[in-house]
Amino acid sequence: MNYSPTTKGRPIYLDCHATTPLDERVLAAMIPYFTYRFGNCASGGHVYGWEAAAAVDRARAVLAAAINAAPEEIIFTSGATEANNLALKGVAEAYLDHGRHLVTVQTEHQAVLQTCRCLEAAGLAVTYLPVGPDGLIDLTELEQALRPDTILVSVMAANNEIGVLQPLAQIGALCRERGVLFHTDAAQALGKVPLDVENLSVDLMSLTAHKVYGPKGVGALYRRRRVRLAPQIHGGGQEDGWRSGTLAVPLIVGFAEALEWALEELPQTNQYLGGLRDKLWQTLGSLPGVYLNGHPHQRLAGNLNISVAGVDGASLLLAMQKVAAVSGGSACSSKQIKPSHVLTALGRSPALAAASLRFGLGRFNTEAQIDEVGQKTLAVIRNLRGESVISSGENAYENNYGTMVVG
Ligand SMILES: *Cc1c(COP(=O)(O)O)cnc(C)c1O
Repeated sequence: MNYSPTTKGRPIYLDCHATTPLDERVLAAMIPYFTYRFGNCASGGHVYGWEAAAAVDRARAVLAAAINAAPEEIIFTSGATEANNLALKGVAEAYLDHGRHLVTVQTEHQAVLQTCRCLEAAGLAVTYLPVGPDGLIDLTELEQALRPDTILVSVMAANNEIGVLQPLAQIGALCRERGVLFHTDAAQALGKVPLDVENLSVDLMSLTAHKVYGPKGVGALYRRRRVRLAPQIHGGGQEDGWRSGTLAVPLIVGFAEALEWALEELPQTNQYLGGLRDKLWQTLGSLPGVYLNGHPHQRLAGNLNISVAGVDGASLLLAMQKVAAVSGGSACSSKQIKPSHVLTALGRSPALAAASLRFGLGRFNTEAQIDEVGQKTLAVIRNLRGESVISSGENAYENNYGTMVVG
C-alpha cells in the first residue's frame, strides 16, 4: 500500500468501477515518454521514433500475453468505448453479406447498448437478452436467440454495476459451435480475473487501462486473426490500418505497466478485496431491508452493490456524499434520473433501484476505511429511516445471501 494516492481531507474513494486512481509506479513508467522520449512511433528515420516504437512493441507484447493472444492481434484505441464501437460497427459492416443480426444483453455498458441502437438505426436487428435475478444470462435463451443470419454475440465479462461475471467459456463454446463471432467487453475484468481468449473462444475483446490503475484515454481491441473488421477511424494507416491516428505512446506504456502489476498481484489483491467486501456486506447486510444485487459468488472481488428499502434514493445518495465517494448506478448514467437499467433488468422496482449503492473497492483502500464506511453507512440508513421498522422485501428473491466468498 505504499503507492497510495492521497485522498486526505476528501471522501474515501470507493468508486473503482468508474475509474481507479493511477498507480504511482505506472506514472513513473510513463513520465519519460512525456518528456525526453517524446517521439512518434511512426517516425522510422531517427532514434526518437525508434525508442517510441520499441516501447509500443513491448507494451503490445505485454497486453497480448495477458490474454493469451498474439501481438499483432492487439489494436490500440482510446479506451473500451472506442473498442466496443470498433468491434460492433466494424464486424457489422464487414459481415453485411453474412447477416444482419446481433445478440447482446440488457445489462451491457452503454458503450455497447448505444452502439447497438446505432446499428439498429442503420437497419440491423439486435436481440437484447434478459438476465436472471442474479444478473447472469441463461445459455438456453442465448442459444434460442441465435439465427442463421446472426453474425455476432456481445456479452460483457464483468458487469460495471453489479460485478457479476458472465459464463464466457460456455458462451464462447456455443458461438464457436454455431459459427457466430463472440465479442466481450472486458473493461472491468482485465487484471481482476484471468482472461484467455483461447480457453474462452473469444474473437474480439475490449480492454481499457483506467479501470486497472492505468491512465485514462487508452484501451485496446483484441481481434482474432481471421476476423474481418471495417475500420471506423481512417487516416495514416496506423495499427495496420485498423485504427488510424498517432499512437498515445505514454498512455500505452502506462497501460502495459498497470496490467503487469495487476497480474502480478492478482491473487493477493482479490483475496484482500474479497475480504474487505465481505466485511462491508456483513455490516450492511445485517440491517433488515438491505439487499445484495447480483450473484453472491460469481462476481468481482471488489464489488458490492446493495439496494436499501424504506429510504428515498436521492436522499440516500446525498447523505452518502459525506461518507464516501460511491455511485448510485452506472457513472455514465448518473446524470439521468432514470433508475439503473442493470438493476431494473434484475427485477428491482424503480424505487429500490434508485435507492442503491455501488461500492467499488480498490487495492488502495484500507480495512480502517471500510470499517468507517460500513458504520457510517449504517447510520445514514437508520437516520433516513427514522429508525422505523421496515416492512419485508418486495419479493421472495430479495433476501440477503449471507456471507459471500471471493468471486
Ligand atoms: C468503463 C467501461 C467502459 C468504457 O471504457 P472507457 O475506456 O472509459 O471508454 C466500457 N465498458 C465497461 C464494462 C466499462 O466498465
